[in-house]
Amino acid sequence: MSIIVLLGAPGAGKGTQAPTLANHLDVPVLASGDLLRAAVAAGTPLGLEADRYMSRGQLIPDDTIVKIFLDQLRSRARNGAVLDGFPRTRAQAEALDRALAEHGDKVDRALYIAVPLDDLVVRMASRRICEANGHVYNVATNPPQTPNQCDIDGSPLIQRPDDEEATVRARMAQQVPPLEDVAEHYRSAGILRTVEGRQSIEGVSGDLIAALEDGAPA
Ligand code: AMP
Repeated sequence: MSIIVLLGAPGAGKGTQAPTLANHLDVPVLASGDLLRAAVAAGTPLGLEADRYMSRGQLIPDDTIVKIFLDQLRSRARNGAVLDGFPRTRAQAEALDRALAEHGDKVDRALYIAVPLDDLVVRMASRRICEANGHVYNVATNPPQTPNQCDIDGSPLIQRPDDEEATVRARMAQQVPPLEDVAEHYRSAGILRTVEGRQSIEGVSGDLIAALEDGAPA
């Protein structure tokens, strides 16, 4: 069982890097944002509740996200998983620790992709995702081969409504302080590793994979 938590502010590159890490470890990616966007698209009660928070750049209440995320973890993470976007608060991190401990498991490593805030706001203006599956592109730094079309599934690329600048700033203001609490939670457990996010996609991937194996505390 290999549980890896991928940390970073919105736009740091978690969604781009999670599949590479998951491939490397041969485990699935569990992405809380993808789960929530699927619920919004399906119009489920969870989706309707989540949409009220997501459209304002706010975090979903801990009780709600913990329940749905831990359900997914139980059903899909038989041999481990890369967690993208969860936990995002200290309470979520503690709930995850408790759920894993019930089966004698634990988070093996938390990998923090560090990018300064000003760079993030610029990056997110040019981020696009594909409509069908949320594959991530950036029109400036990681464009698709055919403009506005996903290389993997051919679906159109769209801007996430919460990537508009005013919402991005709200997300940063609300989400960065609890992210620092989560990083501290794993730092004090000795399992946090920080990776420089301002380099090529391949450069970040290489550093993340090296940090998986690195035994030294951050
Ligand atoms: P993401 O795709 O990870 O940027 O998530 C998109 C949005 O979903 C966030 O801005 C939050 O509104 C919500 N969200 C995702 N994960 C969580 C979480 N672990 N806790 C609370 N809200 C979340």
